[in-house]
Amino acid sequence: MTLPDDLDQQVITGEDKLLLPGFVNGHTHSSQVWQRGLIPQLPLELWLANVFDSTPRQLEQFYWGAVSTAVDTLLSGGTCLMDHAYLIPGQERETVEALVRGYREVGIRAVIAPLIQDLPFASGFPKGCLLPQSASSRSAAEWLALMEALIDEFHAPDEGIYIGLGPTGFHRCSDELLTGCAELGDRHQLCYHTHLLETRTQHRLAQERYGISAVQHLYNLGCLGPRTSLAHGVWIDEADISLLASTGATLVHNPVSNLRLGSGVAPILKCLQAGLNVSFGCDGAASNDAQNLLEAIKLGTILHTVSDSDYEHWLTPEGALHLATVGGAKGVNLGDRTGSLTPGMDADLVLYNLDHPSMLPRTNPLQLLVLGRPTQVVDAVWVQGRLRVAGGQVQTVDTHALYRALRQQPLNPETGRSQHHSVESHYRSVMLNASAGE
Ligand SMILES: [Zn+2]
Repeated sequence: MTLPDDLDQQVITGEDKLLLPGFVNGHTHSSQVWQRGLIPQLPLELWLANVFDSTPRQLEQFYWGAVSTAVDTLLSGGTCLMDHAYLIPGQERETVEALVRGYREVGIRAVIAPLIQDLPFASGFPKGCLLPQSASSRSAAEWLALMEALIDEFHAPDEGIYIGLGPTGFHRCSDELLTGCAELGDRHQLCYHTHLLETRTQHRLAQERYGISAVQHLYNLGCLGPRTSLAHGVWIDEADISLLASTGATLVHNPVSNLRLGSGVAPILKCLQAGLNVSFGCDGAASNDAQNLLEAIKLGTILHTVSDSDYEHWLTPEGALHLATVGGAKGVNLGDRTGSLTPGMDADLVLYNLDHPSMLPRTNPLQLLVLGRPTQVVDAVWVQGRLRVAGGQVQTVDTHALYRALRQQPLNPETGRSQHHSVESHYRSVMLNASAGE
């Protein structure tokens, strides 16, 4: 293997250091950086109404959102992320261009899977929920044509920038859009990324709409395969798990977001026992106000002891790191390029400082990295062999400029749950009563 210039010229003794492959953040929404600390604690369906109200609308905000997410990822041990990206209506191409610019400047490996949907907002709720019938901006055919153009213009694997197919979720997409994305993914060998059964509401909706589980429906449509990654899966059952495992798909576990939104606990231990590939995600900053991969990995490791008392099933720190690296790489369709320290793979490397007080005493550094609260321990990061972080500082972009931009952005004072009385009262009467009866 020929090493790229910057790696070739360095000698690192590794004293008091730990070298690991870079983690993959398997699911986030970069523009939500602007909504960090803004959205009240609400269940997903009510939370969404608040998120849409305060979604950024300027290209510059999307650029800084990408930079911020990339910086947070690098500084918490990640070298690759999946951006399930919101697009500004009417400026879809320009939004992707702004995200690509941000990711290229930071120098992180990024899969951008635009969030696309052709059903109105209200379609994400079961019958009986009276919600505003906002129309979708494009038909399935129009979205697919746009995706084809975005792939042509922006998909650049050699440069670490990838386009993925990202239909929002079965609940807001027609079968035509779901299958069209799968066909486009097959034709270009791209990642297919979508939300899956994040909430009880979505579980009920699938039963109402299809009469079968959402997983079975996606399988029947030909949307599940080794290039498919599914965010959340909180409400999948054992039959869903076996079916998913048989297709070679990946489930992206977002434990912080699932708890913040009260969605539930994904059955990760059962998934692993069934041989289903699992990776970790932070989810967007509106439902995980930090974008810290180590935090998501810690919570995702210890959360499951409450649902399975057989300690032999529990996820170990070493097992969790395997999911964050090898599992994560497979989930973004890059298992042959990143995720392990193997000859022939790209050099996506993270060097941790074991001398930091949060990594003392010198016990088991892997266990301490996962189960402790490592703070500022990322010393150096290389992506595709190129140095991106040195001495704990990002080398490629001016982080002070990023923090200045974040400081200047005024919050939307209109945002807050008070605006959504009608949606909320309906949610309380329909959803909570229904849940109580189950
Ligand atoms: Zn999401």
